[in-house]
Amino acid sequence: MCQLKYINKNPNKKNNLFLDRDGVINKIILRNDQISSPRSLDEFSFNIGIEVFSNLYIKNNYNLIIITNQPDIERNIINLNFIEQVNNKIFKLIDYNIMYICPCTIESNCSCRKPKTGMIDSYFKEFGRGEKNFYIGDQESDLICANAASVKFILKNQEYNKNIQDPSDYVITDLIEILDII
Ligand SMILES: [Mg+2]
Ligand SMILES: [Zn+2]
Repeated sequence: MCQLKYINKNPNKKNNLFLDRDGVINKIILRNDQISSPRSLDEFSFNIGIEVFSNLYIKNNYNLIIITNQPDIERNIINLNFIEQVNNKIFKLIDYNIMYICPCTIESNCSCRKPKTGMIDSYFKEFGRGEKNFYIGDQESDLICANAASVKFILKNQEYNKNIQDPSDYVITDLIEILDII
């Protein structure tokens, strides 16, 4: 299993909220019209509305698990030091439990790169499936991954994802709307 795992604190709530990173927590970067991830702290900026993840109801009832594909690691465009700097930035605003990162490109054909469910599987294997399980993402790979793992999917609407077919469970425009869903 290639995935990287950063534990901040062990999950101890009965429900799980899985968060995609790029496009949910922070803004994506467009390179030649392709969706890409920040490659420097200058390119890193938070999405509007992420304070919702510090909401007391969420704090008291949900474990927060970030699951993210970061193929720029395997491409040697970013290194783990940069990943950890970003993790620290996120942790200052979002008190997440665990961050799982797949460092692989699609060519590696690993079992954790979304839309495969390896990262969620690892979490459930170690900590068990919660009573309620939700996943917030912005891309079709997130939707497919959530469906395959039987986790309810919440699509964060973005300019670049209007073409997603069958967004299934829920669609939100502002992150605050998750409080009506979860
Ligand atoms: Mg994303
Ligand atoms: Zn992987």
